[in-house]
Amino acid sequence: MGQDVRPPEARAARPISRRQIDRLRSAALAGREQGWRPYSKFPVAAAVLTLKGKTYGGAGNVECANYTLTKHAEETAVLAAIADGALLRSDGTTEPTVNRKFIRAVYLASTGKDKITPCGSCRQFMWEFAHHAAVVIMELPAGGEETVPLAELMPKPFGPETLGINDDGSQTPNC
Ligand SMILES: [Zn+2]
Repeated sequence: MGQDVRPPEARAARPISRRQIDRLRSAALAGREQGWRPYSKFPVAAAVLTLKGKTYGGAGNVECANYTLTKHAEETAVLAAIADGALLRSDGTTEPTVNRKFIRAVYLASTGKDKITPCGSCRQFMWEFAHHAAVVIMELPAGGEETVPLAELMPKPFGPETLGINDDGSQTPNC
């Protein structure tokens, strides 16, 4: 399927299909194989669906010997999308414009025993780039998924809007 060229609101209103969820799962599991977690030995698999309909798996979680620099699976998936230009939107002009709210969904594969929910840090990171309709899709160990709006996982958020950052990356001073 090609890139979805409809306006962002029309794209966000469209339900996420079974095929898209299956693609997210495949991307998450394939990406996880590329990660690095010698300390926790706890591999996490995540993938991102953008408003344009593209799917990105990151490298799962990537750990660091000092622990605090560890990158989580949601982060590597979002960064994979950004590295492919998800932040850029060409509106028929030669110069691409910023498309900050590009995340439609973030998928988290189950460990097989438990569902994985995003940690607080990842909720904040996803929020930075999430469309208001963005959802987190958590695979359930028994099969199927639990889908929760990211806005429910981030009540009373501190985010770009708090600092007056607009969707196109410009800033409107709010104090
Ligand atoms: Zn996390």
